Amino acid sequence: MSSSLNLGNYAGIRVQIHWTFWLLFLFIGFLVYSQGGSWETLFWHSLFIITIFLCVVLHEFGHALTARKFGIGTRNITLLPIGGVANLKKVPENPKDEFWIAVAGPAVNIVIAGFLFFFVSVDTYASMDAETLQEELGSITSGNFLFYLFMANIALVLFNMIPAFPMDGGRVFRSLLAMKLGRVEATRIAAGLGKFLAVFFFLFGLFYNILLAVIAVFIWFGAHSENIMIQQIDMMDGYKIRDAMITEFSVLHPDKSLGYAVDRILATTEQDFIVMEQDRIAGILYMADLAAALKTRGRNALIRDVIDTDFFILKTDEPLYSAYRKLKRDNRNFFPVTEHERLVGVLDMNNINEFLTFRSAFDY
Ligand SMILES: [Zn+2]
Repeated sequence: MSSSLNLGNYAGIRVQIHWTFWLLFLFIGFLVYSQGGSWETLFWHSLFIITIFLCVVLHEFGHALTARKFGIGTRNITLLPIGGVANLKKVPENPKDEFWIAVAGPAVNIVIAGFLFFFVSVDTYASMDAETLQEELGSITSGNFLFYLFMANIALVLFNMIPAFPMDGGRVFRSLLAMKLGRVEATRIAAGLGKFLAVFFFLFGLFYNILLAVIAVFIWFGAHSENIMIQQIDMMDGYKIRDAMITEFSVLHPDKSLGYAVDRILATTEQDFIVMEQDRIAGILYMADLAAALKTRGRNALIRDVIDTDFFILKTDEPLYSAYRKLKRDNRNFFPVTEHERLVGVLDMNNINEFLTFRSAFDY
């Protein structure tokens, strides 16, 4: 992906920086400049940001390497201005696994803070009066650098242990509840607490710290979407792809024209099509590709030249929730479904949503 800078692979996991991360340096530069700071101040502030994010990377490796112990791989670790994310390949389903994976991150920062504790004289700062303290800690210097780093690691632990999704504390809380109540009920309660805290942080932030208000919005949506996702997965439990797939659909031939496909889209509710040649799936014609090709090639061009031949095939007896995860993750969300190598259906997100609507309404 071009929007992220690759920092290389460590322990087999790619570490990358999202482009928005650089805004942080602009922001720090602006802050130091606006306070009339020197180049030296800018240097120590920048070094501080880099070091903190190194601690964040180690925190994420805490999650990723613990997840690996439980057989869950990590796609990558991405740094954003608001922190890091370890993109696990799947969500741990066993509450005990989830607990250990979630606490492993903050545990890394506790170890770092414990190590730094030997090098910083917390007592000296504690005994200073407010005025001297203001002078000593007014900005980051070579003298107080380690103290700042120590405090930042403590702050990372406290912040991450807030019991709200998408923070680690939310996962810890959910996993503890799930051991007693099951995953769905545990998620409902954990998400409810997360939303409650988010509203509280938002109101508090509006008056005292606007950054907190922004973070509160993230927390609210994080809690909300986690709850919806777990509930939907639960509704699909026990169902196969066969139960939700579309069985009435058009199949196009690669030698038909783009104009023919446009007519099909207008005449039906279909948007994407399976393209078959001699009983074999030749590819998929996506509406977005069709629209783009019409501009450059015109109506008479052949479907063959526009289809995507790099597609994924689902099987009728796979669990429905596995397809749901795939549909949510992929930017393409239209898949052929086969049984004994024969095309028998297609599946898209719309149909899964229809399935969920009827499941929740009638316990179908
Ligand atoms: Zn974490």
